[in-house]
Amino acid sequence: MIERELLETALSATSEGVIIASIGANDQPSKIIYTNKAVETLTGYDSQSLVGSDCNLMTRLTSDTTVTEQEITAALQAGESIHYIKQSNTKSGDFFWNDLCISPVLNNNTLTHFICVLHNINEQVLYQEKIELQNSLLEKKNSQLDNMATHDFLTQLYNRRLFDRELKRLCAFHQRYQTPLSLAFLDIDYFKEYNDFYGHSAGDDALRLVANQINDDFSREADICARYGGEEFVVLSASDSDESTFLKHVDAVRLRIEELAIPHEKSKTSDVITVSAGIYVGVPMRGVSPTYFTEEADRAMYEAKHGGRNQVAVARQMRLISG
Ligand code: GH3
Ligand code: MG
Ligand code: MG
Repeated sequence: MIERELLETALSATSEGVIIASIGANDQPSKIIYTNKAVETLTGYDSQSLVGSDCNLMTRLTSDTTVTEQEITAALQAGESIHYIKQSNTKSGDFFWNDLCISPVLNNNTLTHFICVLHNINEQVLYQEKIELQNSLLEKKNSQLDNMATHDFLTQLYNRRLFDRELKRLCAFHQRYQTPLSLAFLDIDYFKEYNDFYGHSAGDDALRLVANQINDDFSREADICARYGGEEFVVLSASDSDESTFLKHVDAVRLRIEELAIPHEKSKTSDVITVSAGIYVGVPMRGVSPTYFTEEADRAMYEAKHGGRNQVAVARQMRLISG
């Protein structure tokens, strides 16, 4: 048997607080019968004032919103230890993160004592919080980088890189299921003259307004709007799968851009900003590059330019809708 003195020396050598309490008989409160040196360091209460007192301190150190006193008592009565983490107050009102383990001492199946081991885990919690903060900053940075890699900085539409990737993916899908895909190419009319006359910054504002209008009008999940280049935009739609519906839709956008009524004194087509557009609707063919869609719609867009601008042309048939 180890001597009591030796056990006490061992308990005072540990940095974990150890409190032993005896269960009160006949509804008497439990009393603290032993605390080691570390309890004083952790809580600010000295051993002399604690030993012999009832368990108010224990309640203060151990009660918690997640683990109730009833649950602790039930676990101890059942002969089980209970382990949890909570914020505990010290004598001076500070708090520390307390990793607690309360264990029963049973004598012939009767709970006679319990032992409470306290462990200050402030450092681990602070470290954990620091890691969580770093992770959330990293996640934010990653999503910003992701956004930068797929979106156009000026208009916040998708960029050409994302568009090319989606075009390739959707062409493969629609080729496989033999379903049509629609692509529109929209280009602002006489935009060089607009920039030269109103300045680059006004040009940027106009680009944003036009981009927002296109994005608002093609906002279904299956629609992808992107800035293809300077004053050129593309729309890829899997929802408008027949040519006449898509043509009507794109022409409605063309009209709404005109109705934005952004003054353009130097345009030879109108006195406001307008766009010319070309569309191509078709089932992607095996062995044909996805760029076929953009090339055809671009070609139609140039037909719309030659036809007088502010209009939509359809690739192949080259039908014109006048503005
Ligand atoms: P067209 O009617 O034939 O399309 O003539 P256009 O003047 O619109 O076409 P062009 O290709 O000659 O000029 C496009 C202009 O778009 C050139 C450039 O000044 C302007 N541009 C391109 N990117 C930007 C941009 O990011 N911001 C601004 N403000 N202007 C841009
Ligand atoms: Mg252009
Ligand atoms: Mg242009």
